[in-house]
Amino acid sequence: MKLVTRAQWGAKPSKYSLAYIASTQGVKIHYEGSYVAKSLGDSGAHGSCAGHMRDIQASHLANTKEDYSDIAYNAVVCPHGFVFEGRGLHRKTGANGNQTLNVKDYAVCAMVGNSGLVQPTEAQLDGLVDAVQWLRNGGAAGNEVLGHRDGYATQCPGDPLYAWVKAGAHRPDGTGPQGGTGGEASGGTALARYQVTINGLVYGYRASGAHVTAVGKALVARGFGRHYSVGPGPEWSDADTENFSDFQVSLGYKGTAPHQDADGVPGPVSLQQLLGTLPGKPATSSVPPFPGRSAFVLGKSNPAVTVLDGGLVRRGFTKHHAGAAYTPGPLFSQNTLLNVRDFQRATPALAGDADGYPGPLTWRLLLS
Ligand SMILES: [Zn+2]
Ligand SMILES: [Zn+2]
Repeated sequence: MKLVTRAQWGAKPSKYSLAYIASTQGVKIHYEGSYVAKSLGDSGAHGSCAGHMRDIQASHLANTKEDYSDIAYNAVVCPHGFVFEGRGLHRKTGANGNQTLNVKDYAVCAMVGNSGLVQPTEAQLDGLVDAVQWLRNGGAAGNEVLGHRDGYATQCPGDPLYAWVKAGAHRPDGTGPQGGTGGEASGGTALARYQVTINGLVYGYRASGAHVTAVGKALVARGFGRHYSVGPGPEWSDADTENFSDFQVSLGYKGTAPHQDADGVPGPVSLQQLLGTLPGKPATSSVPPFPGRSAFVLGKSNPAVTVLDGGLVRRGFTKHHAGAAYTPGPLFSQNTLLNVRDFQRATPALAGDADGYPGPLTWRLLLS
């Protein structure tokens, strides 16, 4: 899944603290309900999506009638299939119409409107499924996938998107575990079904390509192929996840539940251990330069800490927090330090010096 964190799209802080929610029955799908320029759906227009996201947030923050704390949605999906973090995981939405409905379901909005761009793209439908899975895996969302108009008087999410919801909210190729009445994703399996991008290549559930086959073959060659009944490759299956998890456990990683260290989704370190090399093109330019150790002083604020927090959230090292959940921000707190230390301890190249203070290597590995 292509997640764009709040820090990455330049979110403003919440106006009020956001209410924690432990779990929901599911997710409601929304559209913007206003004009959205058709050009936003152009294949080359993704550069405009972060700005579009900031506009949505600004309009919600300026809405004096609703007095929103923040953008109302938990996530927003652009026509290019990117999932923009809104209120995020374990946060009560403000978008479903009333308090009862806001407690019942999370809210995911597609960047389509009631005029202009009205038809969701295939990438966007894939992204919506990614967003639903993200909320299931990380936010304890239940199986329900409904439209905003279910149980509330509104046109939202518009006819094209609502037809897709009613048809089962499947991926465009007809597969995927989605469905209004349940699916394997939130059944008993508890297998990690999110994706990561390493050096520009995507790994994890439903990722596809020769690089996925190469991982499977390497797993088999190392003796970690017992879960394959077909394959390996070219599409990443649950068997790949289970085999990779076995490999991670053999490296000493702990925790096989989704988003724990041995959940079967590769990280750069485990992947390099398996293959002896990291395929793809190093995305060095996407990692911001290390700001220097002086940016990380306990109890002091620095913009680099927000960037650091984005990496911790993306990689799931957010166990230590005050209040309901770990929220990115400029303050280098004791919790920041403990979360960084967890990341360092889980990363063999850093584990020898896991003091919770980021050096250049921690910075690069966390943000790459
Ligand atoms: Zn709506
Ligand atoms: Zn986009």
